[in-house]
Amino acid sequence: MTAVMWFRRDLRLADNPALLDAVAAGDGRVLGVFVVDPLLWERSGDPRRDHLAASLRSLSDSMGGPLVVRRGDPATVVPAIADEIGAASVHVSADYGPYGQQRDQEVEASLKCPLRRTGSPYAVAPGRVLNQQGRSYQVFTPYFKAWLAHGWRQPVEAPSDVTWVKASGEELPPGDGAGEQAALQHWKAYLDDIAAYDDERDRPDLDSTSRMSVPLKYGEIHPRTMLADLARKRSAGAEAYRRELAWREFCADLLARHPHAAWKPLRPEFDKMQYDEPGELFDAWCVGRTGFPIVDAGMRQLAETGFMHNRVRMVVASFLVKDLHVHWRFGARWFMKTLRDGDLASNSLNWQWVAGCGADAAPYFRIFNPVSQGQKFDPDGEYVRRWIPELRHLDGKTAHEPWRYGADAYPDPIVDHGEARAEALRRYAAIR
Ligand SMILES: Cc1cc2nc3c(=O)[nH]c(=O)nc-3n(C[C@H](O)[C@H](O)[C@H](O)COP(=O)(O)OP(=O)(O)OC[C@H]3O[C@@H](n4cnc5c(N)ncnc54)[C@H](O)[C@@H]3O)c2cc1C
Repeated sequence: MTAVMWFRRDLRLADNPALLDAVAAGDGRVLGVFVVDPLLWERSGDPRRDHLAASLRSLSDSMGGPLVVRRGDPATVVPAIADEIGAASVHVSADYGPYGQQRDQEVEASLKCPLRRTGSPYAVAPGRVLNQQGRSYQVFTPYFKAWLAHGWRQPVEAPSDVTWVKASGEELPPGDGAGEQAALQHWKAYLDDIAAYDDERDRPDLDSTSRMSVPLKYGEIHPRTMLADLARKRSAGAEAYRRELAWREFCADLLARHPHAAWKPLRPEFDKMQYDEPGELFDAWCVGRTGFPIVDAGMRQLAETGFMHNRVRMVVASFLVKDLHVHWRFGARWFMKTLRDGDLASNSLNWQWVAGCGADAAPYFRIFNPVSQGQKFDPDGEYVRRWIPELRHLDGKTAHEPWRYGADAYPDPIVDHGEARAEALRRYAAIR
């Protein structure tokens, strides 16, 4: 009999336990399918769609051609394909997101054969890291310690003896630069420089973070493959990197336990927080014309490349919520449309962290000053000059205060940071 491997966020052959199970269940005969779900497709912006298409092409090539791509509601498409080939079972790596869990239950209910979930996109599956009372964590540092103590399995090899079964499906457009091999190559090259990560990761001008969020998002690499490599490197950089991977897992753990956290505050008192409607100020934020260079550089980097450095994500998010007083949900939606690594758990929980309403959130009253953040983390102004041509004539740090040094083509600040900060604190005091 043949087994179906339904690929979702695991677009790779190596270190893929669900695929190994499919190979075992099908005695080596496996049909690999990816379902383009119109609901998820509509919600994604072009950066994510482009990357997905290129990654599917790469996966299909590494299988030797026959990845079956079909479009439609997975609850109809997956049972139909399983029926077509008389599948013994359908195999997936478990999805812990709110939509994914519900979708998988619907698919399971419509299938005539079993749906088998093996592994997940995380080193430790959401819900597994518990304290001594059997409860989950609300705060990162104890979660991180327990996550380390829990540990994870070693990576597994790609199956060597698969007969890929063919079926009709959509043509894949040509594409390159994505996929498992590209991800592994990029990661191995990055590992050589990882010692500097600890010191440099907060500096957007140095651009020295790994950019692995994109391959992780699509499962072109499994985090435990990365963790196994990190364990062989003994440096503060490797340690710091492992901690960041744990943040990704913490976000997924939180969202699995609190599905409403995708769009609603984890701290219920923030339901009463007063926000302004997203109008012209929000539009200026989206296109990078707020008059605050570090904010605008980040938003323009995002628009042009589908990526933004983590420190700058924190600054632009804080600016939207605490200087423009717009609900974090609007910013989170914009990010999901424009980021190539847009991931519901990491995105919403980080937005909530910045907005002060998440688990283990940054204290609300600690409001980023966009000018001093720029001066501190982009000390020579290189990052802002890279993304804002109107500021290229300004030397060094002066690029962070164009209103003092002159930049005619660049907008004046759209708010007074001191006044906006005081207003944010007033609104916060009202809900406490
Ligand atoms: C407002 C906001 C929104 C965000 N939205 C997303 C998102 O949609 N998708 C996403 O993958 N990350 C998101 N992040 C987290 C982080 O900014 C990115 O993971 C990181 O910038 C990706 O770049 P990198 O791979 O070079 O990071 P590196 O510094 O090289 O980090 C290594 C890996 O650790 C993980 N990681 C690092 N920081 C975090 C973090 N704070 N939370 C969760 N995981 C982390 C990522 O998987 C990352 O690839 C967001 C952060 C903020 C503040």
